Amino acid sequence: METLEGVLHFFTETGTEGGDWAFQDSQFIYTNTTHYACTKCNQYWNKEKDSEIPVFKEKDGFQKFCSPEYHDFELCGEMNWRYEGLHILKNGDQFIILKEIVKFSQELLP
Ligand SMILES: [Zn+2]
Repeated sequence: METLEGVLHFFTETGTEGGDWAFQDSQFIYTNTTHYACTKCNQYWNKEKDSEIPVFKEKDGFQKFCSPEYHDFELCGEMNWRYEGLHILKNGDQFIILKEIVKFSQELLP
């Protein structure tokens, strides 16, 4: 039996319907220093993957995002949950809660 410490949550992802109960291993929860979103147009920027601000081309005459020089990026969320620590729960998985969580932190939620 493997003992993990982390957060039980309902996992949903953009582009998928519904979601799944999942467990996030706390070893893969980090302070966010690389994931940004523009406060004006919500463009997402993962500085870890793209060192430069990604530029999206205008589509059908509709410009959804600001021009790169007009963005106002802020860190989106204090924490970054990495996929490596995501365990989608399956029928038959068993949990034993070893310690009662005294303080629930909204900051850990995506
Ligand atoms: Zn913007």
